[in-house]
Amino acid sequence: MGKTVIRVLGGGLEVGRAAVLASSEGGTVLMDYGVNFSDSDLPQLPEHVRPSEIDAILVTHAHLDHVGAVPYLYTSGSHPLLVMNRLTKAVAEVLIKDFIKISGYYLPFDEGDWFRAVESVRYLEVSEEAEIGGLHVKSVRSGHIPGSQAYVVDLGSVRIAYTGDVNTVDTRLVRGYDTTVASADVLVIEGTYADADHPDRDTVEEGFVRAVEEVVERGGNVLVPCFSLSRSQEILSLLYERFSGGNVYYDGMIRTLNSILISYPEYINNYELLLRAVREFEEVRSADQRRRVVRGEGNVIVASAGMLKGGPAVYYLKKMYDDPRNAIFLVSYQAPSTPGRRILEEGSLEELGPIRARVEWFDFSSHAGFSGLLRVVESFRGLRAVMIVHTGEQAYRLAEELRDRYEVYVPKSGDAVEVEV
Ligand SMILES: [Zn+2]
Ligand SMILES: [Zn+2]
Repeated sequence: MGKTVIRVLGGGLEVGRAAVLASSEGGTVLMDYGVNFSDSDLPQLPEHVRPSEIDAILVTHAHLDHVGAVPYLYTSGSHPLLVMNRLTKAVAEVLIKDFIKISGYYLPFDEGDWFRAVESVRYLEVSEEAEIGGLHVKSVRSGHIPGSQAYVVDLGSVRIAYTGDVNTVDTRLVRGYDTTVASADVLVIEGTYADADHPDRDTVEEGFVRAVEEVVERGGNVLVPCFSLSRSQEILSLLYERFSGGNVYYDGMIRTLNSILISYPEYINNYELLLRAVREFEEVRSADQRRRVVRGEGNVIVASAGMLKGGPAVYYLKKMYDDPRNAIFLVSYQAPSTPGRRILEEGSLEELGPIRARVEWFDFSSHAGFSGLLRVVESFRGLRAVMIVHTGEQAYRLAEELRDRYEVYVPKSGDAVEVEV
């Protein structure tokens, strides 16, 4: 029999600012400490925790909703151990510096605090285990983006697992969640898409490539707005493998992330494919080149940002929206009230008017759907309790499915849950 108190500092019935604190007699561990941008443009931090209480902070991956608030834990005198792998650290560094540059005025930390955090890093690679801060910690490949890893931590009489974001589907960039390895008493799992399954991946890819071909054959250009981390490299790899009808370009912060990812081959599923795509497709380096690309015919432009909120994708949109031969193919999640969501739902933007280019959305999700999440839960041996975070109302579908076999919790941010196993 063991007991743990789990405090949901963020990500309880919300998608964003993931932060889960678990304590038992064996120690206290903080899993992720991210930010949330969804309600306004102002970043929202998780609830506060005293860094001196924590034996270790485990970071699952480099997305800012999981790592963006970590520097805040290094503004005081105590510096807890910070656990992540080398790729996550390299990518998080780029994203956090950019985040501080854009939002620094509203943040209670600065770049110096990130440097202090880095001094406390203890590397744990995907599928490794080690004693860290007096705790036994094991990492499990979680399949979401390159370098993403779930954790299983031994807190004395309770073993707790935390998935961060998970995907069970193999992609070109990263192999799916490793369902072969873990046992735990309590599992804290994400539930972004806990109520539905995504369409079959091959069908989505096929439809996307065919749509790109149709536009290019008619002499139009295709804009693919993309998150610069992971989704853009997956799209470039897919285009390299399956599309040969036109020139492919990439622009924006994608370029920086490309060069980081190709420096870490061990984290990439089909590394050769990514390397060839990055080297043989053309990088857009200047305003002049940008103008030439958008004036050409039959060009495919993969550009950040994914929801058309900034980056060179906005430039391309302004040049392309008015020509019905062109297309804007969205391949990422589109948050409510972003320009990407508005052109999908309303077919127009206040600042531009009606979008005459073809607009379509393709479901390239990097989060497991209902069946995938169920498979992850069922892969844990000895499991007694499941907590669903990083989710909304959709959590209840998965919760219902699990209730007859496990203790199930769907906490709000701010809740503290005592779990006995
Ligand atoms: Zn993520
Ligand atoms: Zn997330």
